[in-house]
Amino acid sequence: MFSIYIHYPFCASKCAYCDFVSRPGASHEERAAYDDLVLAEIAGAAARAPISSRHAADTIFFGGGTPSLMDPRAVARIIKEIDLRFGIRQGAEISMESNPASRNADEWLEGARAAGVNRLVVGVQSLDDKELAFLGRAHNARQASSFFAKARAADFYSVGIDLIYGLPGQRLTDWKKTLEEAVAMNPDHVSLYCLEAPPGTRLAADIESGKIKPLDGDAQADMYFAAARALESSGRACYEISNFSLPGSECRHNLVYWLGGDYLGVGLSACSCIGGERVENERDFSRYKEKVERGERPARCSERLSYPRRLRESAAMALRTSAGFVSPDIHSVHGRALEADLAALERDGFIETKPSGARALLPDKRFVSDTAFSRLI
Ligand code: SF4
Repeated sequence: MFSIYIHYPFCASKCAYCDFVSRPGASHEERAAYDDLVLAEIAGAAARAPISSRHAADTIFFGGGTPSLMDPRAVARIIKEIDLRFGIRQGAEISMESNPASRNADEWLEGARAAGVNRLVVGVQSLDDKELAFLGRAHNARQASSFFAKARAADFYSVGIDLIYGLPGQRLTDWKKTLEEAVAMNPDHVSLYCLEAPPGTRLAADIESGKIKPLDGDAQADMYFAAARALESSGRACYEISNFSLPGSECRHNLVYWLGGDYLGVGLSACSCIGGERVENERDFSRYKEKVERGERPARCSERLSYPRRLRESAAMALRTSAGFVSPDIHSVHGRALEADLAALERDGFIETKPSGARALLPDKRFVSDTAFSRLI
């Protein structure tokens, strides 16, 4: 499997909790110039890639930022460029994140679909107006439901939603109400995010100054498990710790990350991992632009992962999924050392061995998975 991620670093406004590389207030000209840089980076990446790593894309994912601010004609040009330089497989999944605040929703959805996007993720986050205002989202609950309904009618094969839980002051009953309304919207896919306050965000500053008191971990865990119960009982299986899907609507793009496939990241701050080399693109717009215009790889840093590191990271990632992890190597020194650590995790009640022989995280340990995974890496 080979995947391509396109990062679109512009938003209408900045959410309180956001530390993604995303900037509000860019002009139309700046955004159009960025589209051209993305096209140039795709061409450069293909020209530099050895033939052996120039595979046709199985999945493409437009993330951000707010890719639904993109002109659908630019989306079509980028998809065409990928097809020209790398190829796109028949039946490829082409996903895009979208913000319910997008203007001219009908026209934009039709344009995105015509450009080739076939899977849409709607950033609903909450169906409570007070919570949305607290998060600094640029939309309210009514706009989120209405945008979702329009996306549903626009012939994407899958329309999913993102939800955030664990807000300061949020009660379990508030969260259950959002969940109930979200399930009633009938999304094909739901991704859950536990609210964090990364350094440098407005939310982190408010917590530090004492203005806001974060919710404690136990309350957040209760919310996670309430969501898992609601989503699983509505037929959406938990195929990765925070991702739930109707059968056939799993995000194939993210499965490439979790199951150790190769991926090329294009755009500001995008990450790639191909053949064991991990590269992170420049996060600064000017430096990114200069490098792309000089025909260079716009890398900020890169590292070649050692064999034991790759083996252990692939175990930690695959254990996040319901498919679990089967070690490709139990004979080398490194393979045996990993086996010993997995056996210890199983003894301590974090993971189990399924009848298929794969190791998988036990459902009641999903909220403390980081503790388990930190013992592997
Ligand atoms: S819409 Fe997404 S990327 Fe943009 S500021 Fe909000 S959280 Fe960040």
